Amino acid sequence: MRRYTQGRYTQGRYTRNRVALVGDAAHAMTPNLGRGACEALIDAVTLADLLNSRPIDDALRAYDRDRVLRTQALRAASRALMVVALAGPAQPARDALIRVLGRRSGAAVRDTATVA
Ligand SMILES: Cc1cc2nc3c(=O)[nH]c(=O)nc-3n(C[C@H](O)[C@H](O)[C@H](O)COP(=O)(O)OP(=O)(O)OC[C@H]3O[C@@H](n4cnc5c(N)ncnc54)[C@H](O)[C@@H]3O)c2cc1C
Repeated sequence: MRRYTQGRYTQGRYTRNRVALVGDAAHAMTPNLGRGACEALIDAVTLADLLNSRPIDDALRAYDRDRVLRTQALRAASRALMVVALAGPAQPARDALIRVLGRRSGAAVRDTATVA
């Protein structure tokens, strides 16, 4: 878990010289938002598109501009969600919320079945 919770210091970039990091190597995050693999795929597609359309150094700079801020924000959000999910004192509130949401989604399923 340390891999996901302790930040890598990116210095605002995932590239150095002509090496670019993608996926967890660049922005390993906790699984709580379910975004790690999605963002890895977006990294790969973004990088491929940029490399196909610009000179290499220009493409790598654009990759940093496109990807660093968004993925670091998701890392922080995912980590925050993990802290809430694991917080002992918040557990009763979390459990009550899940019960309410469970009842609502159960009602929605029953309504759908009635319409069909
Ligand atoms: C419990 C859990 C649930 C998750 N749920 C989701 C989800 O619902 N949605 C989502 O989008 N993401 C989810 N993720 C995150 C997702 O699994 C990762 O973000 C994603 O796998 C990262 O892909 P990657 O290719 O960057 O790294 P990895 O999948 O870690 O791949 C790196 C590969 O490199 C290999 N490797 C390492 N070192 C070397 C070496 N020296 N030489 C050769 N090979 C090497 C490794 O064996 C590995 O196969 C979850 C993660 C966890 C732990």
